[in-house]
Formats: sequence, C-alpha cells, structure tokens
Amino acid sequence: MPKNKRPCGRTIREQQREIESLKLRLFWCAYNRSVFTETMWEFNFLRTRCGCINCCTRGSVEADDMETGAWHSRKTFNCVWQHAFEQELLVRGLTFKVVCGLTNTGPDHVVVGGYDFYPEHDCHFVIGGERKDWVVVGVGNLLGNATHELDAGLLRYKKLCDDFRDEYD
Ligand SMILES: [Zn+2]
Repeated sequence: MPKNKRPCGRTIREQQREIESLKLRLFWCAYNRSVFTETMWEFNFLRTRCGCINCCTRGSVEADDMETGAWHSRKTFNCVWQHAFEQELLVRGLTFKVVCGLTNTGPDHVVVGGYDFYPEHDCHFVIGGERKDWVVVGVGNLLGNATHELDAGLLRYKKLCDDFRDEYD
C-alpha cells in the first residue's frame, strides 16, 4: 500500500475533498431557494410592509399580515419592496441580473440548493426577465461555482438570510 493511502484506499486529500463537498451540500440544504424566499418575506415584514400585487403573488405577504399593521400600496402595482430589497442586496455585495429567455432544460443543466444554475451569468442571483414579480429562478457563477462553504459569495448570502431570520425571530 502506498505510504499516503489510508486503509480505505483514499488519500487524506481525497477524503478532505469529499468532506468539503459534503459541507457544501449541507450548506445548500440549509440555505436553499425556499430559505431565500423566506428572507424576502421577512425583509418585507420588517422593513417595507409592501402589500402590492407582486408582493402578494411572490408570497411576501400573508393574508393575516394584511389585516394588521400598516401595509403600503395594498393590492396595487406600486411596489415599495423591490427597490429597497435590491439596495439591501447591493449594499451586502450581492449582485443580480434580470435575464429574459432563460432555459433550464439542457442535458448539462445543474440545480444547486433548489436553484437553477446559470454559469454563464456573472452574478449571484438570476431573475427571470419575463416575470414582473421578482422571482429568483437561479444563481449565477458567483454562487453556483463555489467549491466550499467558506466561499465569500456564500458567506454574504448566508449572512443576509441569517440577519433577517434573527431579526424576525
Ligand atoms: Zn411590493
């Protein structure tokens, strides 16, 4: 047996790579697409309280919420959430692209954390351009290409979700 081989037949480096890969998979389980949707909802509840049609469609407003407290632009097209949320992302160094004509049916198509992965887009989040309600459909290469859980983009994304979850709880 070569000196650097363990009894299981793998080198320490191979085992480390496998551990990193498992940690990354755990990350995407803990911070998947539905967690980001929750973050958008929490942001709306805590900051903007927008009750426009798009926010209602996206799930950023619950019916009970509309009954209580002050909510802006109830069931109108005037959204106060979108610009504020986009600014929040940009301040935290998280970028997004609005892209029309996205396709996610190719044989090499990859899904990470419930997001479609678009490696050709140099950003964190990819938003479907046909949708006017700001539904995140995917991640670009700044999140999807991360190879370990301590990647700078993943940490920014995690902090966004954690901060609003903590503030809401
Ligand atoms: Zn809105």
